[in-house]
Amino acid sequence: MSDVLTVMGPLLRPVSNSDLAAVGFGESLAARSGGALDILILGPTTEDNERALVHLGVRNVYLLRHADLESYTAEAYASAVVAFVKDHRYQVIGAVSSSSAREFFPRTAAMLDVPMASDVFAVESLEPERAVFTHAVFVGNLLAAVELRGPMSLATCRASEFQAPKRVEQVSPVRRVTVSEALGHERKRFVAASRTQSARPELTEAEIVVSAGRGIKGPDEGLPLVEKLADIFGAAVGATRAVVDAGWMPNEYQVGQTGKVVAPQLYLAIGLSGAIQHVSGMRSSRTIVAINKDPEAPIFDVADYGLVMDLFEAVPELIQAIGGARH
Ligand SMILES: Cc1cc2nc3c(=O)[nH]c(=O)nc-3n(C[C@H](O)[C@H](O)[C@H](O)COP(=O)(O)OP(=O)(O)OC[C@H]3O[C@@H](n4cnc5c(N)ncnc54)[C@H](O)[C@@H]3O)c2cc1C
Repeated sequence: MSDVLTVMGPLLRPVSNSDLAAVGFGESLAARSGGALDILILGPTTEDNERALVHLGVRNVYLLRHADLESYTAEAYASAVVAFVKDHRYQVIGAVSSSSAREFFPRTAAMLDVPMASDVFAVESLEPERAVFTHAVFVGNLLAAVELRGPMSLATCRASEFQAPKRVEQVSPVRRVTVSEALGHERKRFVAASRTQSARPELTEAEIVVSAGRGIKGPDEGLPLVEKLADIFGAAVGATRAVVDAGWMPNEYQVGQTGKVVAPQLYLAIGLSGAIQHVSGMRSSRTIVAINKDPEAPIFDVADYGLVMDLFEAVPELIQAIGGARH
């Protein structure tokens, strides 16, 4: 039993680079184990997504639809994986370290009574009954190697560390699976969800992120500058927890340990100190540029380029220089 499974879902939005990175993670595991890679999509998805996923060279794309999976709850998604693997054997079951997988994967591992590694950066080795992964611990401050023993293990991967597989012409078969038992928890029920609308790219998918820290002073002071800079770049806007806690920006903008993990090509850190909890959510960015008036600010330890300057002078100058160059 050396096969590998990549779990996704719910997938109503288009398949993202993070989803594809999870398939890349699965592919690298299957290459080491010598087994086949399958994809399991939990809950509803679109025909476009199905079409995208059948060209990744995997053995099967399984679709598991069930009334209890129409909207996400961790209990139902965990029970669905457990029900699916009753009839399918895998050495490793993987997913991207998304906010939902961070919630339902540990639950799944506990229900299956198998070991799990979270936030995997690299696969060190994979042998029968033994997997060794490097993963982030202590808020990403340390990379630790962990050994998982036994016939099956679970792992979530850090999207920025794995490549999407190459598109192939060959079409993988799509297999619809059903589970008759109730999934989820009898005392928990999904009620409603509301999505914030934004013309800007999704934070975790954006090529460029411009993030604001407490140095912006308030929603009416520095925030319009940060947003203007982001719009010139076609970038997503991020924030520190201090900014979110102050109510200057909504929760979903938060980058860091208790926010979103991003790894864009370019991360512009404006008026933020670079606390470890923030850095753990953006340190994998390709190029980090920091603007801070304090030369001792820890953000300069991780920045590729640093500008020691008052943001209220630097950002308008940047807007003028870049905006002018772009028009
Ligand atoms: C359990 C836990 C989880 C956490 N999770 C997160 C998380 O997910 N994300 C996160 O971001 N934080 C998180 N935090 C909070 C984190 O520890 C920091 O408090 C927070 O990141 C600080 O935000 P900041 O950099 O905006 O503010 P500050 O640390 O106050 O920094 C403001 C920076 O702005 C600079 N500045 C001020 N004025 C200007 C100016 N005019 N021009 C240029 N620079 C200026 C200052 O020099 C300073 O460096 C967490 C904390 C805990 C305990």
